[in-house]
Amino acid sequence: MPRKPALKAVSVAPAKPGAPGASRLSADEIAELFRRFAAANPAPTTELHYTNPFTLLVAVVLSAQATDAGVNKATPALFAAADTPARMAALGEDRVRDLIKTIGLFRNKAKNVVALSEQLVARHGGEVPRQREALEALPGVGRKTANVVLNTAFGEPTIAVDTHLFRVSNRLGLAPGKTPLAVEAELERVVPDAFKPNAHHWLILHGRYVCKAQKPDCPHCLVRDLCRFPDKTG
Ligand code: SF4
Repeated sequence: MPRKPALKAVSVAPAKPGAPGASRLSADEIAELFRRFAAANPAPTTELHYTNPFTLLVAVVLSAQATDAGVNKATPALFAAADTPARMAALGEDRVRDLIKTIGLFRNKAKNVVALSEQLVARHGGEVPRQREALEALPGVGRKTANVVLNTAFGEPTIAVDTHLFRVSNRLGLAPGKTPLAVEAELERVVPDAFKPNAHHWLILHGRYVCKAQKPDCPHCLVRDLCRFPDKTG
């Protein structure tokens, strides 16, 4: 099973001669960038399959270091067996492990999925909480997963930074930063409020299909003229 690449350092374009500060997009350019993403894809969403906030949470936990496509192959059988915290806890670790064994790190993930289900039942009435702190307190749930759930299940304007957002934000000059947390803080600061609810999905899809890690498809990029990356292809 192919694994998602680990986050790694990316080069940030230097300012172009005669254009002070040009390694970062201006506010007008950022607005234009998102206007184009919105025009091309008005209602972006996750490629993970889910049926409710709980199955989304589980799918995101399973997607760590694995592809969405790989997770989607395993989750129909898993969610048919258990689509609520109570049912997942009752299913038990051995059975969950068996159902997700095609996904990388499945042993640890099975343990976390059952443990987080038990905690949801014990502490949250069997519901997925809408608070970041409560989400991050669940086993196997970090800041990125909490951000995805808050955004995708509950419509909060959070922007989860994964490997794709980290790379794209730096290459574009949209939100340069040395760590995912720094990029997230910068995105929070520069992305106009109107675009925040969909920013994560637009940027992740752009990174997955156009601004790819090894060879970005710059000739077909709809924001090429705005992008600050010095090593564009084509
Ligand atoms: S022009 Fe190339 S490097 Fe810049 S965002 Fe588009 S695909 Fe990525």
